This record gives sequence, C-alpha cells and structure tokens, in this order.
Amino acid sequence: MDYALRCIECDREFENDELYTCPSCNGLLEVKIRLDSVEVDFKFDGINLRVWKYSNLLPVKSKPISLNEGGTPLFKTTLGDRCKVYVKHEGMNPSGSFKDRGMTIGVTKAIELGKKAVACASTGNTSASMAMYAAKAGLKAYVLLPAGKVALGKVAQALMHGAKVIGIKSNFDVALEFVRKISEEENFYLLNSVNPFRLEGQKTIAFEIVDELGYVPDRVILPVGNAGNISAIFKGFKELKELGLIDSIPKMTGVQAEGASPIYKAFKERKLDIIPEQSPETVATAIRIGNPVNAKKALNAIYKSNGLSVSVSDNEIIEAQKFLASKEGIGVEPASAASIAGLRKLLEMGEIGSDETVVCITTGHLLKDPETVISVCGEPIEVEADLEKIKEVL
Ligand SMILES: *Cc1c(COP(=O)(O)O)cnc(C)c1O
Ligand SMILES: [Zn+2]
Repeated sequence: MDYALRCIECDREFENDELYTCPSCNGLLEVKIRLDSVEVDFKFDGINLRVWKYSNLLPVKSKPISLNEGGTPLFKTTLGDRCKVYVKHEGMNPSGSFKDRGMTIGVTKAIELGKKAVACASTGNTSASMAMYAAKAGLKAYVLLPAGKVALGKVAQALMHGAKVIGIKSNFDVALEFVRKISEEENFYLLNSVNPFRLEGQKTIAFEIVDELGYVPDRVILPVGNAGNISAIFKGFKELKELGLIDSIPKMTGVQAEGASPIYKAFKERKLDIIPEQSPETVATAIRIGNPVNAKKALNAIYKSNGLSVSVSDNEIIEAQKFLASKEGIGVEPASAASIAGLRKLLEMGEIGSDETVVCITTGHLLKDPETVISVCGEPIEVEADLEKIKEVL
C-alpha cells in the first residue's frame, strides 16, 4: 500500500515518515493513503474484530507491536426514546482507553523508524497506553503531565509500565509545547495525537462500527479534547466511502465540557479555527484541554459530515456517568460520559431525529478515575461485624 503525508493547509505531500508537521507551512499532516493501491482483504462480517484486522489500510510495514487492542463491545442501550442508541465501549481496550488503537500503530512506527525512546504530554490515558506499548516494544518512555490533574488510575499505569513520569505545575497545553521541543532535541518519537500515524490506528473505530453493526449509523457522538479521535474516526469513514465499501458518513458529533470548549465555541459561530482557552477546567480531566492541536481537522470533520458540537456541564457529565453505570451496567470515566450527556442534551434540543441510529463512543474505563467516583458516590457504609447491624443498613 502506498501513502504520503499530506499537509492539510498547503496540500503539499511528503514521503518522510519522521515529520509531525509540514516543513513548509507548519500545518498539520495527515496520512494520505493511495486508495487505488489498496487491496481490501477483510470482510465486514462482524468476526475477528481487532485493530490489525484492517492492516491493509494501516500505513506501517513492520511486525505489529500489539496487545490485542480493538474488538471492543458495541452495546444496544435503552437510551434515547425512539431512536436507537448503541454504546461502543472503548474502555474495554487493554489499557482501558481507545488510545491503545493509536499506540499500537505509533509504537510500531517508532520501531520502524529505529527510535530508542517515545514521549508524550498527557491528560493521563495517552501516557498509560504509551507506557504499556513501549514496555512491550522495549523502548524508553517519557511522560509530561499537568501535576495534580491526572486521574489516579492512569498515573498508576504509566508508572507501573515503567515510564519516566514528570508532573509540571501547569496545564496539558503547556506540557505538550514542552514535550514537542524536548522530543525534537532528544530524538524521542512524539506520540501525541499531532502524530499522524497514531490517528491511523484510531480510525479503526469507524471500521469496527460498520463491521459490528453491519451498516453505517446516522450519527457518532464522542467527547472531544485534543480533537484527534473525532478527526480519526471521520477519516476512517471517509476512506471506506472512497473505497466504495459504504455509501454514507455518520454525522460526527463532538461533545466538550463547558469549562474546556473551544471547539464548541468555534462551531457555534461556524468558524474554521478556535480561540485557545488559557485555563480550561472540568471534572472530565481527559478532555481538560484549552488549545486542541487537531482543532482544524475536527471542525472539518464536523462540517463535512453535517455533524455538530455541543457543550455539557460537569453536573450533566456526572449524572450521565451514574446513569450509564447504574442503568446499563457500563462503567466509564467522566470524559466518556460526556458523550451520553451530549446525547441527552441534543435529544432535549430536538437536534437528533427520532429515526436516527446513534453510536456513542465511551472512551475510557470507570476504573481510571476512582477518586471522582468516591467523591460523587461517597465511601461504602461501615458497620460492626454483626448480623443485626448489617441487616439494619440493608
Ligand atoms: C484522550 C481522551 C479523550 C479525548 O480524545 P481526543 O482525541 O484528545 O479528542 C476523551 N476521553 C478519554 C477517556 C480520553 O482518554
Ligand atoms: Zn503545509
């Protein structure tokens, strides 16, 4: 399969896999797969789901560094009155978030390029996933985090998988600026979603939705932080359409937290770019991002697919998290619940048709953020080891 890196701003193409941004205008790059060179050897038969099932559409040549990522369940739910709502639970990936789909490709590419170390800035899940795949590949891993603003489960994973984890007294956006500089100077392979190869892995969410459902849904709803995932999923659907494997693209619908919503604000005014926010704040730490790197790609995905963006409050996020866990048995972290909160809000606003089939992506697992859970659910009740006392509180 042939591909090049194409600049989304000036349209120039490059055959150098080591680039992250356009050397001539600094624009974002995307992997342009020459689809006429692709031999589609997989079937949308709903079986053997995993990222590497679609390897003919993935731009790496070497042996995959894989931990059996992908193949996440798609649950039919009772949400949404008359329209059909499915939840694709990406928290069921090996490290507990969709980031694994990107990392299996990103770390395989790092090996292909002969790199000795990988690096990222992270709100948590990127670091957990990167550390896990770096361990599998035998690479060193360096992580820069916003100190005190990363959910406990995620830091625990990054540390246990052997990454060097550094907290800085600032936010994610600043951490990313630093790690971009450091990676360039130290020859670390940068694995944030500015890395175009990572997004190639994440586009398999689109492939799996079609594979599992057997058709193309009307709408996909997901939380948006650095805005890589919505761009990646849109690209996945677009490639299937260009290959003639499907004939429509779902309305890409991005949900942001009120305290970190530059994409929603740009969408509201139909702008093509965002105004960065200096102090983003939300309980959904995975999407606590004020200056999303992939904003342009994401807005393009939303406009081109006739989708939309909506923002939700922290309360709405927590309510949705509780609802999903207690009524559907699906345990997700706060950022993931933003997709359900967004669905509920859009239904109320009358923005979703009653005949629509909707897929909500829940991006990360409940266990990622135990501290938020305890703060909203409270601690378990403690009583004496006595039958009567226990019965009293039942
Ligand atoms: C990374 C992440 C997001 C945001 O994804 P982007 O690609 O940065 O928009 C949302 N939810 C969870 C759980 C994440 O880990
Ligand atoms: Zn360019």
